Amino acid sequence: MIIVMKPGASEDQVQHVVDLVRDFGLKEHVIHGTDRTVVACIGDKRHVDKSAIENASMVERVVPVLAPYKMASREVRGERTQIRVGPRQFPLGGRQVGIIAGPCSIESREQILLLADVAQKAGCIGLRGGAFKPRTSPYAFQGLREEGLKLLAEARARTGLAVFTEVMSIEQIPLVSELCDVLQIGARNMHNYALLEAVGKADKPVLLKRGLSATLEEFLLAAEYIINAGNEQVILCERGIRTFEDYVRNTLPLAVVPELNDKTHLPVVVDPSHGTGHAHLVPAMCRAAVAAGADGIILECHNDPEHASSDGAQSITPATLYELMPVLKRIAQAIDRDV
Ligand code: PEP
Ligand code: MN
Repeated sequence: MIIVMKPGASEDQVQHVVDLVRDFGLKEHVIHGTDRTVVACIGDKRHVDKSAIENASMVERVVPVLAPYKMASREVRGERTQIRVGPRQFPLGGRQVGIIAGPCSIESREQILLLADVAQKAGCIGLRGGAFKPRTSPYAFQGLREEGLKLLAEARARTGLAVFTEVMSIEQIPLVSELCDVLQIGARNMHNYALLEAVGKADKPVLLKRGLSATLEEFLLAAEYIINAGNEQVILCERGIRTFEDYVRNTLPLAVVPELNDKTHLPVVVDPSHGTGHAHLVPAMCRAAVAAGADGIILECHNDPEHASSDGAQSITPATLYELMPVLKRIAQAIDRDV
């Protein structure tokens, strides 16, 4: 249920509505829009006297939210949410499309600094790199862990890029929050509700990847866990889903982008690297993602893909990234955006 206040409602009038909502045992989220304030109510509505709220002063209307995800829903917040990331506070979800590039895993100081310089020179807004890696095999490279995070922080200080890295468990959150800008929840952890609630208590933006076999509704309900725990800075990331198809590692369903833009106010980022698994498919999927209305792209880039510790096959080279960026800019401009 959302309570839409009339334009010009005072803080006291909003507070009065909040008090009523609490009296009915509901939890409130107050959203200040450009011209009006909305009070979203979460909880069991069976004992709510809707007319008592409707009669409060400066209440325009009370409307039910039909989607099972509430705070993530476009019904609750009509305007798109912009999430500012990194030292330069780039607004993901604004007019400009943000490109984030970097290796799957941080492998060494030389490697991450080199790729940070590449990303910066190419015009990216962010640098990605895994320090804690969720590998399918326990014998595969697991990441440089804390040392990797420190190298990422060094790359950030050197370039001013926003740094994105995965947090795999609750214990890692304080350290990752201290050293990085955006906490990535990997596809394998989209259903880890304890972890979602824990990043919901962190004060950093979260990049939430869609689970390998999650429906859109499950994806948005995972975002709802984070928002409901107190963190409204959720960036959704489509990274491909598992299908019967085997010429790609995952199938990248780009229709998700306009569908999410319709259903939610949260920014949507596409990962064409995990979404295809093959470097030669990545540039075309980046072009298509921008054309489809994505707010950002997160891709894997490596200076020596053949010797990468993880995901070399899907990592584009710096030369490909340099060629791609001006093309993405032209596509963005064709739909009144920019890169
Ligand atoms: C990654 O970003 O390197 C990664 C492991 O992604 P995903 O969780 O989407 O598989
Ligand atoms: Mn990877």
